[in-house]
Amino acid sequence: MRAFLPKQELLPYVEAILQVYNLHGRRDNKYKARIKILVHETGLEKLKDSIEHAFEGIRHSFTSPSKALIKAIDDAFAPPEFINSRSLVFEDALIASAAFRAFVETNVAEHKNPAYGIISVSLKPVGGVPGDASADQMRVLAELAKTYSHDELRVSHEQNIILPHVRKSDIPAVWEALQDAGLGTANIGLISDIIACPGMDYCALATARSIPIAQEISEHFAARGLEREIGEMKIKISGCINACGHHHVGHIGILGLERKGVENYQITLGGDGRENMKVGDRAGPGFSAEKLMPALDRLVNAYLDVREGVDEPFIDSYKRLGSAPFIAALYPEAKNASAA
Ligand code: SF4
Repeated sequence: MRAFLPKQELLPYVEAILQVYNLHGRRDNKYKARIKILVHETGLEKLKDSIEHAFEGIRHSFTSPSKALIKAIDDAFAPPEFINSRSLVFEDALIASAAFRAFVETNVAEHKNPAYGIISVSLKPVGGVPGDASADQMRVLAELAKTYSHDELRVSHEQNIILPHVRKSDIPAVWEALQDAGLGTANIGLISDIIACPGMDYCALATARSIPIAQEISEHFAARGLEREIGEMKIKISGCINACGHHHVGHIGILGLERKGVENYQITLGGDGRENMKVGDRAGPGFSAEKLMPALDRLVNAYLDVREGVDEPFIDSYKRLGSAPFIAALYPEAKNASAA
């Protein structure tokens, strides 16, 4: 809509967008009650004109939230009082245990305070339902947050749990407790750390299953022992065009559709949800549920063949080479037909 806005105009502009959506959005149809559908049906330029018009109508009369409310929000997100003393417990555990090193490599991110780390607790055990935690596991997480993370945990859009402020010297103890609770999977950012929407298992809008596809992918690549070899890989699966699984920004996106009463999975490639956001490119015709896994296998094999080394993740290979080698791997029959 706008490349930049003065900070004080951000809220009235957002309100203008919502006003236009409220007036013209497709609330008559639950399948189309999405702002992206309004963009698609109206056209971006026309919608922009309506938003600018609404914005002009409210920008001078808009009253900002009270200072007291803003302060209350600031206070609620104030950083905790960090304890800066260090011990060698963390470093000793790194030396002593390869499993702990693997966990730290994938599941612990740098904290702005060097005495601390940020732990991502994976809710993606191999073959499990992505994002699920039992009541007992949630109690364990609450206790760990209270004891080790300044009473704070966050639920991430990647369907994992974050313990945002853990002293490095406490990380080995947290890791042990996570393992005991079945929460120690060391796979953040790897091919089994899949976002999957509820799909046909739970969602009335779904056109295909998502969860069993995610389970099959994680089991398959775990069985091949390739997860660490493949490295960073974001697979995201949605069970219909509403895209709750963010498939359009997956390095490999999978969109479950329905064709003539049968599930059909469309693959997008090269999506990226980071700062330089990119919507993935649609690779070609979709695959049946049975043919999807072999197709993904060919795709991953092609990546392992063409990458410039273990330090080049799939998304970087895709950006460097474009879609051609990956599409050729997905659709070998097209290549054979053109050669004949
Ligand atoms: S993307 Fe998934 S969760 Fe969202 S509406 Fe479609 S099936 Fe339901």
